[in-house]
Amino acid sequence: MRKKKLFWQLYISSLLVIFLALAAFIFLTSYSFKSILLDQVSDDLLARAAIMRDEVLRSWKDGDMPALQRSCSDISTRSATRVTVIRADGVVLADSWHDPAMMDNHRGRPEIREAMAGKHGNSTRFSRTLQKNTMYAAVTVSDNGRVLGVLRTAVPLETVEASITGLQLQVLLGGLVIALVATLMSLLISRRITRPIETLKQGARRFAEGDLDFRLPVPRSEELSDLAVVMNNMAAQLQERIVQITQQHSEQDAVLSSMVEGVIAFDMEERLINVNHSAARMLRVNIDKAKGKSIQEVVRNIGLQRFVDQTLTSENTTEGYITIVDDVERFLQVHGSILRDEHRKPLGVVVVMNDYTELRNLENVRREFVANVSHELKTPITSIKGFVETLLDGAINDREDAIRFLGIVSRQADRLNAIIEDLLSLSRIEQGGEQEHIELREASVRDVLVSAVQSCQRDADLKQMRIELECAAELQAVTNPPLLEQAVINLISNGIKYSDEGQSIAVHAARSADGMIRIAIKDQGYGIEPEHLPRLFERFYRIDKARSRKLGGTGLGLAIVKHIAQAHHGRVEVQSTPGKGSEFTLIIPAGKSEVDSPDVT
Ligand code: ADP
Repeated sequence: MRKKKLFWQLYISSLLVIFLALAAFIFLTSYSFKSILLDQVSDDLLARAAIMRDEVLRSWKDGDMPALQRSCSDISTRSATRVTVIRADGVVLADSWHDPAMMDNHRGRPEIREAMAGKHGNSTRFSRTLQKNTMYAAVTVSDNGRVLGVLRTAVPLETVEASITGLQLQVLLGGLVIALVATLMSLLISRRITRPIETLKQGARRFAEGDLDFRLPVPRSEELSDLAVVMNNMAAQLQERIVQITQQHSEQDAVLSSMVEGVIAFDMEERLINVNHSAARMLRVNIDKAKGKSIQEVVRNIGLQRFVDQTLTSENTTEGYITIVDDVERFLQVHGSILRDEHRKPLGVVVVMNDYTELRNLENVRREFVANVSHELKTPITSIKGFVETLLDGAINDREDAIRFLGIVSRQADRLNAIIEDLLSLSRIEQGGEQEHIELREASVRDVLVSAVQSCQRDADLKQMRIELECAAELQAVTNPPLLEQAVINLISNGIKYSDEGQSIAVHAARSADGMIRIAIKDQGYGIEPEHLPRLFERFYRIDKARSRKLGGTGLGLAIVKHIAQAHHGRVEVQSTPGKGSEFTLIIPAGKSEVDSPDVT
């Protein structure tokens, strides 16, 4: 339904009231004026008749009809009234405006009958004689109590009607002027009433648009001022609520985004309600674009979609595992539960995700490590057991064989020992590095390198290899000297192991511009194929197992170097060209006291 403006409702209804009242007033006024005027005319006619009565009686008693006619005409001229004398039997004896002979019997006229009945005869009707609306008044003419007839006075009503019409016109004109003024006034009043309402309406619209700082002006009328105050209070409360809700929201957001666990929520139609940063990262979801989209659009993972379906249909919380394959494979542990409103009506589902890829990788590394260790230990033990059994089976009786076999057993035992030694030192370094138990202090790099070179000199000599050392004496590093020495020994002895006889190894240390000491051990050996480089520092990773074993390698040397570098808050890098040689570089923080050493960029 089309709504009408309050202003028009008020204005039109007040106009209606005004016009109705005015019309009633005009009608009543003209009606009462008319009846007052007619009453006056009628009284006047009666009075005139009563005054004329004696004069008429005199002529009548004389029986002089022409005199009676004359006196009627005289009176009529003087009083501008028609005068008629009617005998008791109804015969017209004289008439001031007409010939009585031409007039019919008047006994039946209402005013005559009334007068004859002893009342004031009075009548208003159309006169056929005068052809006009006429008012008649009649009084009896008596002579000593004997009624002779009736004296009738009459006037045409046209003058009265003209003055009534004039009067009515004046009233109407006055009414119109009043109506005009009232129309204007009611326009102003309607405006005055509706303007504050309009202001309230505009204010309410501003509230609805979110401008809750705005306050409505308080109008003077009681009801509207109450309304404005109530609305202002409502806006203030609403603002307070919004602040509260926004605060709660940002708290919730802060909690959600700081969570390591991924949280993602869908409604009953499986459209995304919310997702935190962790979940977005795990599922590769764009938070800004994803809200409101369906699960199929947001998460292209059938496992999660099924899990959400399953949670939506189950009453209790659900648990499961999903795998996400991107550039890498990731494993998520998922917990799902139904989101409910305050009436326990289901709203959707929330899924909390734990990325346990790293844990799983660690577990794999551990399992692999155990398998590797067992394998590494099993080889020498199997060998020892085999030779011991051979000896027991009789080989012990052949002295030469026995000595050879026992030599092998001894070497295998050494190998076992080496593996266990390496494992133990690896675990010590690892633990020490993690728990920051390894004591680091400023020490001379050169001293450490000299000592390492000395330790490897014997092996180098056996292969006629030279070890060249280049290191400024004042070079200081924040280090644990025995550990650093062990790392350098591992790298030099690898250089010796994986090079041909007669080649040389260069050990060079210098301070770089970033405040680190770079210790490079460069050989001219076999080099390493690029595909092995990423895994080179893993435990038991060897390129050529047989060769490594033959050379007494455990496959743990570089793993130990890596952990020693980490325990120094540093790192190790490798560059290698197959067939030309390798360069391993240990990078550890420099000491502060050494300032004059040359920088290497
Ligand atoms: P290993 O005890 O077998 O030497 P490492 O951890 O020290 O174990 O080294 C892992 C593997 O890396 C070795 O088996 C070897 O194949 C390769 N490697 C290490 N250092 C060198 C080097 N300087 N030149 C060529 N290959 C090397």
